[in-house]
Amino acid sequence: MGAGLGGLAAALRLQAEGIETTLYEARDGPGGRAYVFREGGFTFDAGPTVITAPSCLDELFAVSGKQLSDFVELIPNDPFYRIQWDDGARFDYHGDAARLRAEIQRLAPDDLRGYERFYRHSERVFDAGYRGLVAKPFLQLRDMLRVFPQLVRLRADRSVYRTVSRFVRNERLRQVLSFHSLLIGGHPFETSAIYTLIHFLERNEGVYFVRGGTGALVDAILRRFVDLGGRFRPSTPVQEIRVDREGRHQVRCAEDTQPFDAVVSNADVHHTYARLYAGEPAARRERRRLERSRWSMSLFLVYFGVDRRYSDLVHHTVLLGPRYREHLDEIFHGASLPDDFSLYLHAPTVSDPSLAPPGCECFYVLSPVPHLGNAAIDWEREAPRYADRILASLESWLPDLRKHVVVQRVFTPLDFERELAAFHGSAFSVAPTLTQSAWFRPHNADRRIPGLYLVGAGTHPGAGVPGVVNSAKATVQTLLADLRDG
Ligand SMILES: Cc1cc2nc3c(=O)[nH]c(=O)nc-3n(C[C@H](O)[C@H](O)[C@H](O)COP(=O)(O)OP(=O)(O)OC[C@H]3O[C@@H](n4cnc5c(N)ncnc54)[C@H](O)[C@@H]3O)c2cc1C
Repeated sequence: MGAGLGGLAAALRLQAEGIETTLYEARDGPGGRAYVFREGGFTFDAGPTVITAPSCLDELFAVSGKQLSDFVELIPNDPFYRIQWDDGARFDYHGDAARLRAEIQRLAPDDLRGYERFYRHSERVFDAGYRGLVAKPFLQLRDMLRVFPQLVRLRADRSVYRTVSRFVRNERLRQVLSFHSLLIGGHPFETSAIYTLIHFLERNEGVYFVRGGTGALVDAILRRFVDLGGRFRPSTPVQEIRVDREGRHQVRCAEDTQPFDAVVSNADVHHTYARLYAGEPAARRERRRLERSRWSMSLFLVYFGVDRRYSDLVHHTVLLGPRYREHLDEIFHGASLPDDFSLYLHAPTVSDPSLAPPGCECFYVLSPVPHLGNAAIDWEREAPRYADRILASLESWLPDLRKHVVVQRVFTPLDFERELAAFHGSAFSVAPTLTQSAWFRPHNADRRIPGLYLVGAGTHPGAGVPGVVNSAKATVQTLLADLRDG
């Protein structure tokens, strides 16, 4: 239930195993956070744009008997990202080792050797933390105890930023090497150092954009699922699920109620327990636990198309202000909207001009903002003003931007809550802190409600495209093992 990338990947894996699968989706199309909308000849990916760890997508298609390349083309991004500070300074984060070294030499020559040591550290964390842990479910405490010595060795108790700081001294280089945890909803000063593995993962496997947009990947997974006989039910929000005396899950939507042997929920984890399984006593405990958990920040997004092209652009630009830690603290823990912002600008027409009419450019800009549980911001009133402030700030670099906007749409924390049933309007679900990871995270299978499985950002391993695609692997393996065990 739920056709986000995790739900789609799980549905495809199940159907490929010969398990008759029905995929319910509340919205009128698939994708969840990776939904697509089109307006005025522009194609907007609503969410994920940075594709890392393509090997997990290769594997997903391979288990369905096909190759990823039969369905989508991955365009390498070069540079992976541009980091740009408010004084105009830039750092191009390349995948190519020599070019990356040249950038470090330019920004922080004294840190070159420290960077090399960081890279090797990131590789060690990747070997232990990604290969070993990411697609394995943590259902019992002993699963956690088994990896505990490894976590201690890797100093998983430290934060990403603190670990990066052990290797490099330059503050800007520290930002360049630590901002990645934001991509999965984590505060770089609070997210476990396990996530330093992202650096090696990117260097090793690359950073890509899907030709036609991430939506083309979503469509490909759905198409493969349907080709194998899976049933897709868009515009069908599940209203309630009751477990009957025979242990079957009675799934009720507006049109009907149907029995299933098992449910894999890709809906927000809080929504799953608080609304869908509200009638189950075990769900109440989980709901209370989730309400005490720390949730990742929300996002404010402006999707816009302009009737001109800009030359000074790369595909992914991260714009950082003068304050890093203080600003992040305000986003993650503050009760109001910070006065300044850090932004991510997505310019997909740099890689694929077909996403906009000829001579035009397609963009989205996102600003991390506090979630609704922390800050009582009146987004209905604030949104137009905030969008205008953000676009105005981009004009220092993209001249006359607002004059050229021909299509514009915003998505606020309230939309995350209303459209995606996201608790507190969180963009990335339960925050990826050490005490909310692996066994401490909502489990891939709920042993107190037999037949209920979870997939997606709220379960192990967590948010991000590789995270949710790997969660599908962990969840489906558990479900298949349960079936074998009767
Ligand atoms: C703006 C943005 C940018 C991002 N950028 C990147 C990026 O560049 N790279 C990256 O790796 N990650 C990125 N992420 C993170 C990544 O997109 C998400 O972690 C991931 O897509 C979440 O997938 P999911 O499987 O958890 O499902 P979701 O996308 O959360 O989908 C859940 C689905 O369940 C449906 N649903 C909910 N309730 C019901 C119900 N009752 N009945 C039926 N259906 C229901 C929803 O409608 C939705 O379709 C980004 C996230 C956002 C928001």
